[in-house]
Amino acid sequence: MFFVKIEEQIQEFIFDTKKEAIMYIVDFLDRKEFDDPILTLKNAKKNNTENEDIIVTEDYTFKVIKLFRYKKCSICEEPIPSNMNLNCNHYVCKDCILNMRKPECPICRHNLEGKFITDEIYCKILNNHEVDKMNEENHDMALALMTAIGYNPNELY
Ligand SMILES: [Zn+2]
Ligand SMILES: [Zn+2]
Repeated sequence: MFFVKIEEQIQEFIFDTKKEAIMYIVDFLDRKEFDDPILTLKNAKKNNTENEDIIVTEDYTFKVIKLFRYKKCSICEEPIPSNMNLNCNHYVCKDCILNMRKPECPICRHNLEGKFITDEIYCKILNNHEVDKMNEENHDMALALMTAIGYNPNELY
């Protein structure tokens, strides 16, 4: 999904492909009575980045901007950009990724190392996992101690 921005004015048109967006610019130049819109575009200065192409002709500046459709995080249901999909094509927001216990998709358990799982996030996930394990061990030890001194653990809850 793309849209075209002409100078500071955003064309509300939404294009499915970049090609359609460029054709719209050709059409725009044609309507402004440029002799040869295609030649004008060929001679324009272009700066292409991943999500935005800037095309500067002598008279106009165009921006072809890539929009992301928003999806819902499968865990917290907050909207997230559709380019945030995991390797397995599920959508999970960054906050939820940071709270994961294992570097795997919470929905399909696909291994998620790489892409969004940076070293920093990976350490955070491992740390979450360690904390869980330690809490469980402490809990088990406490129950064992209580049993040893004559309590029935099932009656303690
Ligand atoms: Zn979330
Ligand atoms: Zn998945």
